[in-house]
Amino acid sequence: MHQLAAGNKPEPSASIVVVEKLVKRFGHFTALSDVNLSVGAGEKIVLCGPSGSGKSTLIRCINHIEKHDGGRIVVDGVELTDRMTDVNSIRREVGMVFQSFNLFPHLSIVENCMLAPMKVRGLSRAEAQERAIGLLRKVRIHDQADKYPGQLSGGQQQRVAIARALCMQPKIMLFDEPTSALDPEMVKEVLDTMVELARDGMTMVCVTHEMGFAREIADRVVFMDRGTIVEEADPETFFRAPSTERAKDFLGQII
Ligand code: ADP
Ligand code: MG
Repeated sequence: MHQLAAGNKPEPSASIVVVEKLVKRFGHFTALSDVNLSVGAGEKIVLCGPSGSGKSTLIRCINHIEKHDGGRIVVDGVELTDRMTDVNSIRREVGMVFQSFNLFPHLSIVENCMLAPMKVRGLSRAEAQERAIGLLRKVRIHDQADKYPGQLSGGQQQRVAIARALCMQPKIMLFDEPTSALDPEMVKEVLDTMVELARDGMTMVCVTHEMGFAREIADRVVFMDRGTIVEEADPETFFRAPSTERAKDFLGQII
């Protein structure tokens, strides 16, 4: 790769995440083998592939929720290793949004957003609250700040989960099928929030089968099957002319 003379495409040295020859096993089962991926600053990647292909495992390894067995993962210049004692130093920089919203049910919406910035970033209560309200406003849910998660719809809860992750001011946001547990009428509000985030310049890796979303924001679509990356392309190319049979089969099933 070479440095681009103009434009806002990142140069390789600006990678937020570098994954090289990644291997992850569960017992005798190899869930990921020889996965290579780098995510440039500001880049938006959509990760897709059949169920069981290793998408969640890959992003869980990047967040160090799962420990890898081979290869390297470097996040914001720091290599993730077994010996790593300060996992929080990685989690601070990596925001994660799951299929199930994982909000703390006993905390109000605003308190859900204040907790980690106070505990991990050392913000005062007042600072954390100000930041939380600002980001809840951004996802257009500040009027619900004093409610509890159980009082909100699924789409609203997922937008809170996005705001909560943003309160840590992460360098990258990882999304693992953020809309697949939602009722259809709530999918759009969450995707709209993600599109806005993308337009603000956030670096994002999104596991999703929402192909309209992929076409709209992805710089690259990465297709996985059976624990490896099989194909990568810009969305237009990937959807119009996938180069592998496996990607063709997959697209045939979801579109
Ligand atoms: P995807 O997100 O693409 O559907 P996953 O990353 O969840 O796929 O899973 C990839 C493979 O690894 C699957 O075969 C799954 O059964 C297996 N796997 C994932 N997590 C575990 C685990 N904790 N223990 C054993 N096998 C697992
Ligand atoms: Mg998954």
